[in-house]
Amino acid sequence: MRKSIVVALLLVLPMVMSADRLIRIPMQTDADFTLVRDMGYEIASGSRVDGFVDILVNQRFVEETMREYPGARLLPLEWSELVPTDSRNEMGYYYGPNENALFWAELAENNDMVDTPTSYGTSYEGRDLNFVRITKAGPDAPAILFTALTHAREPGSNSVIIDWAQWLTTEYGNDTMATFILDNAQIYIIPIVNPDGYVYNVPDPQGRDQRKNMNWTLGNGVDLNRNYSYMWGYDESGSSSSPSAATYRGTAALSEPETLAETQWIDSIEPLGGFHYHTWGGYLIYPYGFNNSPTPHQSTFQSWAAQMTAQNGYEYGRCGEVLYDVNGDAVDWSYGASTHDPMLFFTPEVDDNGFWGSQNDTSLIVNNNLECRYMNKILCMNLLSMTGVEEGTYAQCEGSVMELTLGSNPVSAVLSYTVTGAVPASMSVLDVAGRVVATPEGGNWVVPGDMQNGIYFILAENGNESVSQRFTILR
Ligand SMILES: [Zn+2]
Repeated sequence: MRKSIVVALLLVLPMVMSADRLIRIPMQTDADFTLVRDMGYEIASGSRVDGFVDILVNQRFVEETMREYPGARLLPLEWSELVPTDSRNEMGYYYGPNENALFWAELAENNDMVDTPTSYGTSYEGRDLNFVRITKAGPDAPAILFTALTHAREPGSNSVIIDWAQWLTTEYGNDTMATFILDNAQIYIIPIVNPDGYVYNVPDPQGRDQRKNMNWTLGNGVDLNRNYSYMWGYDESGSSSSPSAATYRGTAALSEPETLAETQWIDSIEPLGGFHYHTWGGYLIYPYGFNNSPTPHQSTFQSWAAQMTAQNGYEYGRCGEVLYDVNGDAVDWSYGASTHDPMLFFTPEVDDNGFWGSQNDTSLIVNNNLECRYMNKILCMNLLSMTGVEEGTYAQCEGSVMELTLGSNPVSAVLSYTVTGAVPASMSVLDVAGRVVATPEGGNWVVPGDMQNGIYFILAENGNESVSQRFTILR
């Protein structure tokens, strides 16, 4: 069913996605450089000191070129390269509805770790509601979910998820963290929660203002993010009973096909947590929104939010702390609904400078994507740590007299550590594959500039016992 729809779209749309790609080829000698240049490749950049050269290759020849050069790697696309060249017909530098369909279909076609978009239900106007799954792990691996465009006029929420998906798939096998995440989790994505509203917003070059879904029976749509079933309609300030209001909550909890289908599907995959992406403003919000009271997981929410916003400076807290109370929203439902265990969901409000603020500016989108990619990574790592996937890999702490303590600054370029114990310990740093990548000495380890971002373990051994700590390198 999905397949036929995708094929139909391909027939009516011009091929907008056949962009050039950057391939990084490792170089040993000057002669290598000369060889690549003389072969007629377009050299985009390179460094003799660092020993690589980036060449531009048409998408059609990527596979062939990669085969030709052992150790070559495909570089992730920047937004200006990723965006369809004629996208101004749809939604500027954002991905419109048709461009989304193409993007996700192509991503699935080009990566065996990505499933073809699959329907979990039907919208009010009869459109497919689709999810995508990206994973290298089995069906029993924990799920993490990212959603976007619950509010139809917030296309920046979709951009960050497109960027995240293409980063994960391109960097799998290159970046330690992308590899770790896909090896240990099933990443689920709903690119467009509210497709009817999004399609409605297409025709105006500036983007229309529809926020709600397209059930205009009583007014001008229902605010899906006030229609979820936890504390639905708790009061009049966190949502509205007036059909013309922007925050109209609908006639009943889950009265709308979009929220009903989504919640039933989420209950079936039981994610550990995730992000319900919105725009704009630069906030990171966690429950409870309905009465601004802390959840039993308040300290977890708060400490994770502090970590995740370390780079972008987003203001974090409960909705009532940073903005205003909301009831019936997706985050409260994800955490509080009795149909499942608490799921640790946040709402990032991407700092998009307006609902359509980045429509004509790829640099803003790129910046938002990078800021959110960072948050996505930390979220996944924290959620996966809870499941203990890597626990015990190197740690043999039972009965230990030796203790290993890391310094307190997780984003410092220098990792400090203290080891106590009967016999002086030897230290090593291992990557997630168990390879020794460094042997620190003296209590301070300067993280090398060329070290990949990712998860590492620092291991202390003294002949009788060993202890380890996991740490993350993020730049
Ligand atoms: Zn929103």
